[in-house]
Amino acid sequence: MTTSSLRSASILLLLALGSPRLEAQTTADVTAADLRRHVIALAADSMQGRSAGSPEGMLAARYLAEELKRFGVAPAGDDGTYFQRVPMGRTEFLAIPELKCADTAGAEITARAGVDFDLAEGGCDARELKVVTVASAAEIPKQADSGAALVLLAANATERGAWLSAAGIPDGTGWGLIVALGAKEAGSRPMERPPRARGRVAPQTPRISVRGTLRAAFAERRIASLTLHAPIRSIELESANVIGIIRGASAQLAEDVIALSAHYDHLPPRVVPEGQDGIFNGADDDASGCAVVLELAEAFAAGKRPPRTLLFFFATGEEIGLVGTNYALDHPPVPIDKIVVDINFEMLGRPDPELKPPARMWLTGFERSDLGDELVRLGVPVVADFRLQQSFFTRSDNYALALRGVVAQTLSSFGLHEDYHKVSDEIESLDYTHMEACAQGALVGCRRIADGEFRPSWRPGLDPSKPKARERNTERQDPTPPKDG
Ligand SMILES: [Zn+2]
Repeated sequence: MTTSSLRSASILLLLALGSPRLEAQTTADVTAADLRRHVIALAADSMQGRSAGSPEGMLAARYLAEELKRFGVAPAGDDGTYFQRVPMGRTEFLAIPELKCADTAGAEITARAGVDFDLAEGGCDARELKVVTVASAAEIPKQADSGAALVLLAANATERGAWLSAAGIPDGTGWGLIVALGAKEAGSRPMERPPRARGRVAPQTPRISVRGTLRAAFAERRIASLTLHAPIRSIELESANVIGIIRGASAQLAEDVIALSAHYDHLPPRVVPEGQDGIFNGADDDASGCAVVLELAEAFAAGKRPPRTLLFFFATGEEIGLVGTNYALDHPPVPIDKIVVDINFEMLGRPDPELKPPARMWLTGFERSDLGDELVRLGVPVVADFRLQQSFFTRSDNYALALRGVVAQTLSSFGLHEDYHKVSDEIESLDYTHMEACAQGALVGCRRIADGEFRPSWRPGLDPSKPKARERNTERQDPTPPKDG
């Protein structure tokens, strides 16, 4: 689960440690012992917190893939594998950017970063470029020139984007540099240290925006050439979603996809004095959800193939802003409009003290759709999410799907324990009997939905993909937690 305000995690490169393979194998039944095995594999100290982009994150991905394979679940990632590669990286800026321009009269202008120009994207080692200036999309030359800076005399970022898209080069690919007209006033603060690192790989073509008198010189086409020196180091990191599929057995219903999801990434270790624990094991968040989805996958794979298709989706990059799930939605392994429902599993490792059995879990966004009522009808031990102030509905991977119109909600039993996003979210702190009850309940509900024709829908006015429904805080504010059923 993400913290309520998204922040980028600092990604550390670490040495890959041992493989998490375990000797004992799990059984087709959903059991506390099997769930525990999965949590031990994923949340061990050797996994170093499984942060997205870390070698240990990929170790966790490999564990999930090998388990799906062992169960007999088919791969649904890239090129017949279980992995859907998710681009992830980091750009470090090695110096304060320097820019020298030569005007049409041959005079040299030294521009100051933060005053006369700003580096917007990417970088390059000292590169001399001639200047090509355009005042409309139509003027952009068909042939990009890597020895030239393309100056766009567009009014604003929206117009610039539209021009580049119209020219078929949304990232300015092929040009040596893209120059935008920035503020008419010069900046007041000269840059004193290199820009801060960014949590993504730099695009091939750097971009700057020019300000003040330098802006005027570009706008009036008085600049003939320039040299930009903005050295960077780009680090590509390996990360992947893990995806398996059981194709439906019914000719009519196999197109319907029931997605069962959990995120496997957690947080990078923190530096601590020797002897102290700096590892965020993330046993509850969300090794517990992954363990449940694995157990459901194994149970489904061992049983009779249901009429509808089941997609098992383990996301990377949830903790840094639902990155893996959003990537999958941009590159969907199955058509998004065929996903009948996404049931997401988050933090099921401990009972919520406010819930009394038989209730075991709460469903986020309960009021928004008819899924919750159907799960209750099918005997799943679930109630409505009553911790509405926490906005859990918008804090997990389900929300990325919900914003695209898919009925997508999260089952959880997170009782706001103190180990949330702490190094104390350890394997031993989970209640595996509780998890077994959750997973068995979820299996009954998922099986009935996969067997039947129930198609959940958002209630009128409450579909998060419709801006009006999003703006309204529609979760019913009910201060009294349910004490039974
Ligand atoms: Zn989390």
